[in-house]
Amino acid sequence: MKPTNNRWMIPIIIFLSLVLLGLVGFLFLLNVNVYTVQVMLSGDPVVTVEYGDSFRDPGASAVYFGTIFQQEPLDVPVTAEGIVDVSKIGDYVVHYYAEYEGVSGSETRTVRVVDTVAPEIALLGEETVTLPVGEEFQDPGCAASDNYNGELSDSVTVTGELDPAAPGTYILTYQVADESGNTAQVTRSVIYVDVTAPVITLLGDTEMELDNGSSYEEPGFTAVDDCDGDITQQVTLEGAVNTDEAGTYTLTYTVADAAGNSTTVVRTVTVKDMVPPELTLYGDSVVRLVIGNAYSDPGYSALDNCDGDLTGQVEVVSEVNMYLPGTYTVTYSVTDASGNTATASRTVVMEDIQARVSGGVIYLTYDDGPSSYTSRLLEILDRYGVKATFFVVNTGYASVMTEVANAGHAIGIHSTTHDFYEIYASEEAYFNDLYRMQNIIASYTGLSPVLIRFPGGSSNTISYFNPGIMSRLSKLVEEKGFRYFDWNVDSRDAGGVTHGWAEVAYNVIRGVSNRSSSVVLMHDSHGTCLKATERIIQWGLANGYTFAVLNFNSPGAHHGINN
Ligand code: ZN
Repeated sequence: MKPTNNRWMIPIIIFLSLVLLGLVGFLFLLNVNVYTVQVMLSGDPVVTVEYGDSFRDPGASAVYFGTIFQQEPLDVPVTAEGIVDVSKIGDYVVHYYAEYEGVSGSETRTVRVVDTVAPEIALLGEETVTLPVGEEFQDPGCAASDNYNGELSDSVTVTGELDPAAPGTYILTYQVADESGNTAQVTRSVIYVDVTAPVITLLGDTEMELDNGSSYEEPGFTAVDDCDGDITQQVTLEGAVNTDEAGTYTLTYTVADAAGNSTTVVRTVTVKDMVPPELTLYGDSVVRLVIGNAYSDPGYSALDNCDGDLTGQVEVVSEVNMYLPGTYTVTYSVTDASGNTATASRTVVMEDIQARVSGGVIYLTYDDGPSSYTSRLLEILDRYGVKATFFVVNTGYASVMTEVANAGHAIGIHSTTHDFYEIYASEEAYFNDLYRMQNIIASYTGLSPVLIRFPGGSSNTISYFNPGIMSRLSKLVEEKGFRYFDWNVDSRDAGGVTHGWAEVAYNVIRGVSNRSSSVVLMHDSHGTCLKATERIIQWGLANGYTFAVLNFNSPGAHHGINN
């Protein structure tokens, strides 16, 4: 090692030490001094903005400073970052940032976009709805919308209870909330009113009839209201029935429900005589008679509790035919002033005539035909195998004489003209008429009859205009080979008196019933001959009679001659 100048060594070392010390101090200060960038918000760190409003950032400022050096703050620029969407509620953060000389600082602000506006809600339909009790309420609903959430009608909630059965006012509350919890509500009044009147039900008949003098007992009633229930006790009854006096009485039943709906019903009670007259028949209830005897009523009386003697008003309906056997009913009826009818009946048995002879012969003779009835008469005779004698006239039915003859009946001559004044004018006139008819018969039947019957019979008095003519003719006809027949039983079916067929038959039956030989005068120019003949035959056969035709040797049944 080389020697060194030690004399410089010490100051250099001191100097170097001082430098080193200063350097260390400087470095120490450098390390102790802290620089800061501080960002400071203008306004509140949390800012609320109404939805839809605009957001104006109040901004921020920043300073740069050190703890030892640069203690005087230095403004530095601030940048802000962050998006605030005022069209959407929510919390947004805005970042503020500043940097200087490598030192930075930041701050944040919360921007709260909120909706504080309540939804709008409006009733559809009427605010007050009035309904009759029992009717279902059809809610027209509400319309609701929100500035933020838009259409909210479907979110409306309804609260409130309805009792359609009970009259009263009910409130329905419609409420809606947006998603921010803002609510709105409206109310509707539903008023149930009782508009239905009560119902009165009458027990018993609404139209009653009572007998005079009886007593009226109210059958009762019920009243029911749809809202008030059984209100029978509130029914008022007006009117009264006087059962001692005939007439129609009205009873009025009235009731009203709590809502004032009123109902009235009426019952009519008619007081009248309801007892029919007492109808009494005198004599037997069954009267037996033989035909030909007129039925005479044995009598009756009618007495009514109110109207007194009504015998004169009794209606008697008799079906009795005194000429026809049978069982008949005679009915009696009488009606009092109140319409009560009493009836009674009596039986009348008409018994047939019984024959008083046995084995009698009946000659049925028919004059003045043929007629429109003759063919039917032939059918009846044929049905029973009975033959008869026809004393014919020149009617418009001459051809029927052929049927008569062919059926085996006897034909005799009555007259061509049957004109009393012509034929009884002289003997010559009579025989002209007689032969003329004989020829007509011959032309239709091939027969020339010699059996004759004088028009009017040999006993006639109509020929008085020619005195003695019948005395002369009755001898002359026999001398000329004719045989004349009168009758001993007259059916009385001619002569201008109208008789029913049953009477005609009766006349014959009565006449033949006590004769062993009967020449019966009938007329087939009258319709009564049909049924009468059938009954006569039935009676005769049942009573042992035989029917025969007249011949030349038959009994003439001659009358006494009056002229
Ligand atoms: Zn005659």
